Amino acid sequence: MSYYAEPLAHLIDELSRLPGIGPKTAQRLAFYILKMPKERVANLSEAITRARESIIYCSVCGNFTDTDPCGICRASYRDRTTIMVVEDPRDVVALEKTRDYKGLYHILHGAISPLEGIGPDDIKIKELLSRINSGVKEIILATNPDVEGEATAMYIARLLKPLGVKVTRIAHGIPVGGDLEYADEVTLTRALEGRREI
Ligand SMILES: [Zn+2]
Repeated sequence: MSYYAEPLAHLIDELSRLPGIGPKTAQRLAFYILKMPKERVANLSEAITRARESIIYCSVCGNFTDTDPCGICRASYRDRTTIMVVEDPRDVVALEKTRDYKGLYHILHGAISPLEGIGPDDIKIKELLSRINSGVKEIILATNPDVEGEATAMYIARLLKPLGVKVTRIAHGIPVGGDLEYADEVTLTRALEGRREI
């Protein structure tokens, strides 16, 4: 039998399904929500529903957006000759904060991981290949510096080589095994400047 009234138990259960939220945190958040003014609770649930319903994948780069193409793909000042390939939309946010990169992006939504059963067809590699045309001069592979990220970079580099486009890999200013999204701006800028052709 649950110690909680059913609606409260349900709320705790839903919150505990979120990443990084254990049972204790879920309980704390649920009790906090119960004490919030009803208006703020309505705002919170409306924000969740609206974000989920209005955010789509950009049909060009795969980033999260509420317009298609996204703001970066549409911006006339962006350098269309360079595409930076990242694993996750959060990496775009980290790189945009550096303000040093003015090219376009391609978001793979994952990395090749045989252990987790994720193959090349499970991430957006085909979509990347379809973007390569004579106007594209450089592809920067900015997948994470861990086993999966390296394997993904190597796999993509092999596919791109015959297409005659320059392929570079960002330098390892980022600690091995680290996540791009958690790297600070100076580290990211150096990693970008120190990229090497592969
Ligand atoms: Zn886009």
